[in-house]
Amino acid sequence: MNNDQLAVAAREAAEGSYSPYSHFRVGAVVVSADGEIFTGANIENASYPVSSCAESTAINTAVSRGVRKIVCIAVACIDADNVEGAYPCGRCRQEMAEFGVEKVIVTAGDGSVVREHTLEELLPHQFNL
Ligand SMILES: [Zn+2]
Repeated sequence: MNNDQLAVAAREAAEGSYSPYSHFRVGAVVVSADGEIFTGANIENASYPVSSCAESTAINTAVSRGVRKIVCIAVACIDADNVEGAYPCGRCRQEMAEFGVEKVIVTAGDGSVVREHTLEELLPHQFNL
């Protein structure tokens, strides 16, 4: 899948969002080193800290199926009304680092712009043991 296709898939994944509090539907698509595709959406909770980000949901799905190396993740928020879209939060960036994500694709709220970043750009000086 190219970046535009991944962005479309991330927007589709956002349709699975459970976001009754923020009304901010986010979807993510993970591509493993073997080329497998996994999707996720944000899942909110009345106790806000219990909520899961779309990126985390997708990463956890992939890892629970045996994936240990993720090369790319695409993120889209279909409710963001700005052209920047929704960049991954710091926690998700650290999760990406754990599984070796190299490329992060962020889609504008309206789907009009697709940006590509390295994880190093988004999370310099990553924490590692
Ligand atoms: Zn997050």
